[in-house]
Amino acid sequence: MLQKREKVLLLRTFQGRTLRIVREHYLRPSVPCNSPLCPQPAACRNEGKLLSGDVTHYMIPDWKVVQDYLEILEFPELKGIIFMQTACQAVQHQRGRRQYNKLRNLLKDARHDCVLFANEFQQYCYLPRERGESMEKWQTRSIYNAAVWYYHHCQDRMPIIMVTEDEEAVPQYGSETEGVFVISFKGILNVNKHRAQIEAFVRLQGASSKDSGLVSDILIHGMKARNRSIHGDMVVVELLPNSEWKGRTVALCENDGDDKATGESPSEPMPTGRVVGILQKNWRDYVVTFPSKEEVQSQGKNAQKILVTPWDYRIPKIRISTQQAEALQDFRVVVRIDSWESTSVYPNGHFVRVLGRIGDLEGEIATILVENNISVAPFSEAQMCKMPVNTPENPWKVSPEEERERRDLRKTHLVFSIDPKGCEDVDDTLSVRTLNNGNLELGVHIADVTHFVAPNSYIDIEAKTRATTYYLADRRYDMLPSILSSDLCSLLGGVDRYAVSIMWELDKTSYEIKKVWYGRTIIRSSYKLFYEAAQELLDGNFKIIDDIPEFRDLDERSRQAKLEELVWAIGKLTDIARHVRAKRDLCGALELEGVEVRVQLDEKKNIRDLIPKQPLEVHETVAECMILANHWAAKKIWESFPHQALLRQHPPPHQEFFSELRECAKAKGFFIDTRSNKTLADSLDNANDPNDPIVNRLLRSMATQAMSNALYFSTGSCAEEEFHHYGLALDKYTHFTSPIRRYADIIVHRLLMAAISKDKKMEVKENLFSNKDLEELCRHINNRNRAAQHSQKQSTELFQCMYFKDKDQEMEERCIADGVIYSIRTNGVLVFIPRFGIKGAAYLKNKDGLVISCGPDSHSEWKPGSLQRFQNKITSTTTGGESITFHLFDHVTVRISVQASRCHSDTIRLEIMSNKPYMIPDSELLHQSSLLLKSDLVKEVTRSVEEAQLAQEVKGNIIQEDFQKYCQTKGRSLYMLLEEIRDLALLDVSDSHGIGNTHLQ
Ligand SMILES: [Zn+2]
Repeated sequence: MLQKREKVLLLRTFQGRTLRIVREHYLRPSVPCNSPLCPQPAACRNEGKLLSGDVTHYMIPDWKVVQDYLEILEFPELKGIIFMQTACQAVQHQRGRRQYNKLRNLLKDARHDCVLFANEFQQYCYLPRERGESMEKWQTRSIYNAAVWYYHHCQDRMPIIMVTEDEEAVPQYGSETEGVFVISFKGILNVNKHRAQIEAFVRLQGASSKDSGLVSDILIHGMKARNRSIHGDMVVVELLPNSEWKGRTVALCENDGDDKATGESPSEPMPTGRVVGILQKNWRDYVVTFPSKEEVQSQGKNAQKILVTPWDYRIPKIRISTQQAEALQDFRVVVRIDSWESTSVYPNGHFVRVLGRIGDLEGEIATILVENNISVAPFSEAQMCKMPVNTPENPWKVSPEEERERRDLRKTHLVFSIDPKGCEDVDDTLSVRTLNNGNLELGVHIADVTHFVAPNSYIDIEAKTRATTYYLADRRYDMLPSILSSDLCSLLGGVDRYAVSIMWELDKTSYEIKKVWYGRTIIRSSYKLFYEAAQELLDGNFKIIDDIPEFRDLDERSRQAKLEELVWAIGKLTDIARHVRAKRDLCGALELEGVEVRVQLDEKKNIRDLIPKQPLEVHETVAECMILANHWAAKKIWESFPHQALLRQHPPPHQEFFSELRECAKAKGFFIDTRSNKTLADSLDNANDPNDPIVNRLLRSMATQAMSNALYFSTGSCAEEEFHHYGLALDKYTHFTSPIRRYADIIVHRLLMAAISKDKKMEVKENLFSNKDLEELCRHINNRNRAAQHSQKQSTELFQCMYFKDKDQEMEERCIADGVIYSIRTNGVLVFIPRFGIKGAAYLKNKDGLVISCGPDSHSEWKPGSLQRFQNKITSTTTGGESITFHLFDHVTVRISVQASRCHSDTIRLEIMSNKPYMIPDSELLHQSSLLLKSDLVKEVTRSVEEAQLAQEVKGNIIQEDFQKYCQTKGRSLYMLLEEIRDLALLDVSDSHGIGNTHLQ
């Protein structure tokens, strides 16, 4: 039965000599295939691990892919992988024992859906190497041949995708066998070790389309092409030949359903593909709207099977079996998808629960939460019963054991906090003093949350699940219960608190760092200052002490002494911070969020309480101290645990993303040098139009948009040179300073405690995560942060729409505003409205093909005509010969209205009324009115909701409470703001509906 062959192996020795080894090689008619589809399992002797039955295709990685991308193949999301013996041997010979063992362990790992196929022992799979054939070509040919055999062995029932690094293999084998796809591994885009998903594989059709572009740029047109995949699924996409490419707007109309169709003419054809397989289904709960009574009737005979429309445009309609369609027609409802038959256009699902009435604030907020998978149930009894108590009868006290273990700073250090006014959860405080040797000691003291939150306790598990505190436009959902977040962990003034401190000894003149100390401490903060007060003290305006409660009830002498002490400390801190900042600036730290941008982005984030009317230097001071602490925490935990420390990286941006920024700047005569973070920062500083500060603001915002997100990662999964934080220009960075509202900081605190124990040669008590588990956790936290950003943005848009909805646009002053054009598209322009911080599309051509014409009286009309687009301007010419041109950065007058939608969120519409500014752009004035209006906006919407509820005799106290709660706090320092804003600005607006760029090409 066995055939004997000789196999020649050429191995290279360490000395560089080549050894020729001849091996006897026996071929068998059958070897284990390990597929559940095997027609003869007995013959194949499939006794070990089998592939899962629940896949849409098998994946066979080529030898080079296994060699270079084993880490990606280890993703648990990737299922049905067949490792060919040829590929495994290539790893063994080329990558050495360590990598080979990793592969073997993966094959043994019962949790990972992959198997080995010994193709070289299978008589039909084995191919001898041809004369003159390179080893590489032979390996690829062998693997492809085995893939084809395997496909037929499974009776052609399971498509096979071979992924290869060999560009030539794609056209060579790609269309040879139906059902066996050959895909370039280069076509796997957006692969990032820190991503939960590989978004798609792109099949390259022939050599003509070597540039596959981003996956999100490949159009999947039509239900058929979508092939039962849903947004969020991990899919395999085949690129269609150019002749079948389509324009984008067509697809928008089709995907978006009825009320979204704006009637745009299709744009230029773009790469278009179809889904050939689903790697992983990613079904979740969906918020849907039931059809109205009339629609139900029109849906016809089978009235119990109702088609419901998901709130998320990207999700297809879902078929629900229910008798209650009529009762549910005015509500937002949660449904779950159960199945999708191959014969059906729509998936089947079932009713889960009702969220609230369409258009009601609470129902709409609940919708946003479900859509972002945010669960904010109150903390349970079980979670709360392990929490410490602090009541007047039973006050919390520092325990004697902790007093012994911790360094006590209560008598030795002047500790204080600087936060926004009214802040309740203070997680950072500062100190500075002169040591006996004349040197300075700078201290950052952070709330010791991990003292109260033990690993794997109920509260820890809950905090981990939430991963962050969620801030919506009018409310927040805390990561930790308030007994911790606003009481025992909060470093309030005048009370004893546990802290985790980092203290640096600095040279008295050069501020060079001499020593660092990390450890647990006990502190008592002397002052809980707010930013403006600290700035006044720094500026020498001491009248402000009347507003600082700690100075009340003091006699004149001690008041004077205390004031001097505090003013010295703030001044010294500021001096040190300037110095540290200057050092970072030398390395190219970016100030992307210039003051103006802060305001603009604030609109999305609704953190207006924090927004200074003027930039205060004391913000920078606090921010810089926090960045320093985060940086040193990162260094410490990485040194102690090089393969399992949680750090934060900010990868450098892709140069091509800067092209729009460069072009726009050029229109104003500025040159933006994007070669490094340093040159970018410098040239952005110089790109200032003295007549229009909004130009700089928009340019900075564009720069921010071109960046990628900063992300958490485990140091074991990343090469050290990738740790870099581009925006902050630091080689190591993490989050340490906000454990009350970020779970990443809790992990970092535990790591830091473990590092200190290790230094002291003590047993490491903390249960540290392995690299793999930490990587998984980082993925979860990154994902939750994105959800937090989306929900915040969506809730802000909800408030904006409620603010403008049902207003008489002719009469209401608020509906007319000044806007600035920041992008030119083929059928319109993108406009930014500083007053409201709204960005949106304004069409110059409407759905009837008419173009805009602006009369002298600030009134626009639609007339027959045509548009002509140039690099930095667009001209609308009517057939009557009237012509109007809009330039980049022109100020225009726009009318804001709301496009109501029953099934989806409402969207803001912008309409150009005139090509002239609405007001003389006085930045100072705009700035202030914008601030006022924003708080008015939320307040007014909230108030009108309350009134409506009162009218229904429903108590409105929930909203009132939430609103007050919201007023309490948003982050604590500019530094956090900075981080948040950076993250926020990097949101992909193109997938949002309405305000994004998707409507215009
Ligand atoms: Zn078999």
